[in-house]
Amino acid sequence: MPDSASSYGIPGSATSAADWLDRGYAEDYNATAASDTLLINEQSRLLEEQGRRIIKFGFGQSPFPVFAPAVATLAEHAADKAYLPVQGTAALRERVAAFHRYMDGTDWRAERVLIAPGSKLLLFALMKALPASEILIPAPAWVSYAPQARLAGQHAVRLSTTFENRWQVTPEQLDRYCREHGPTRRLLILNAPGNPTGLSYEPEVQRELAAVARRHGVVVLADEIYGPLHHRGEHRPFARDYPEGTLTTSGLSKWCGAGGWRLGVLNVPDALGDELLTRLLGIASETWSSVASPVQAAAATAYSITPALEVYLDTQRQWLSAIGRWCAQRLEASGVRTHVPDGGFYLFPDFSAYREALRVRGITTSTELTETLLEEAGVALLPGSAFGCEPTQLTARLAYVDFDGAGLLERDPPATLETDMADP
Ligand code: PMP
Repeated sequence: MPDSASSYGIPGSATSAADWLDRGYAEDYNATAASDTLLINEQSRLLEEQGRRIIKFGFGQSPFPVFAPAVATLAEHAADKAYLPVQGTAALRERVAAFHRYMDGTDWRAERVLIAPGSKLLLFALMKALPASEILIPAPAWVSYAPQARLAGQHAVRLSTTFENRWQVTPEQLDRYCREHGPTRRLLILNAPGNPTGLSYEPEVQRELAAVARRHGVVVLADEIYGPLHHRGEHRPFARDYPEGTLTTSGLSKWCGAGGWRLGVLNVPDALGDELLTRLLGIASETWSSVASPVQAAAATAYSITPALEVYLDTQRQWLSAIGRWCAQRLEASGVRTHVPDGGFYLFPDFSAYREALRVRGITTSTELTETLLEEAGVALLPGSAFGCEPTQLTARLAYVDFDGAGLLERDPPATLETDMADP
């Protein structure tokens, strides 16, 4: 019995299983490390153990409870044990399509919807299913796009944005990029309302972006997981301006407060053909098989348009709007520039007005800034560098979620928070 790989006589072979792995890691260019955004949560936890009160604006988890009727359905179906169709149950796909047609005015169709354990997995499956392409990622961006592109063996390209342009890629920038780099297959990821920015595209800018994407044959992946929590005017799905070229993802994690249930949805437009959907179903059947049966049943309840659902969504939107505006005003009042969020629960302030004062104290990067804010003020934020900003840009993501969401759902949201927050 050979007791090590070298016994097989492979030249230069490893001597143990661990050795084999180590050599493999050294040659593996697709490797990706665990996300560093978890670090700040760990530091917050340690400080809390020491008795410090920490305001947790780091982790981006919905503060609101799951929609109660969906919880009841989950309980009723706890004993459901069957594997379900790979694409998701027809009943759920019908509800999801109807929900998005009603909420967004876009052409979602049940036959073109795919259900997965989280939209994160759908994004990855998409990158895996696409033929080799450039994945254009406007930065700052959600932390997982670039590592996912790398894991999928795709070529990720970062498009840097500025505070002045609302941290968004401009139509001119996209057009210039496509012209300068010649024709090739491209997927552009657009996330609105955005994480980490909280911002959506102005309708006029969005229409122009759609026109540029159409002109250059760019496929758009619209990550609209925060769409139903758009709270400043109306959510304008990208598919409304570019229906034939937009893949849209969403799910239960944000608007339904059910991140841990792991349920994401994707709509593949007809015009992109059948091959992509076939490939996605292939990946799904070889990896996750299907989403848990009780969760699909509960999701079908969550995705049913009812007066109770409308109240649930509307109450969340009003609170998020009032709290977001209040936080933005407070930041601005202390000289930290920021945008008023359009949706979701994030702000992305820029502390560069304090650059000189911070430099004197040896603080020159966004990580040093957030570490100092945690240690000295007990406020946990995530550094802008985690989202693809240059380390010396003094930006940070503030997830305004550290409040009692269940309590707020019971109360009538105020028009503004001035009076309410004086009495927290
Ligand atoms: N996209 C964005 C922008 C997100 O913020 C998140 C969750 N943090 C996801 C996708 C993934 O969500 P899920 O996998 O829970 O559907």
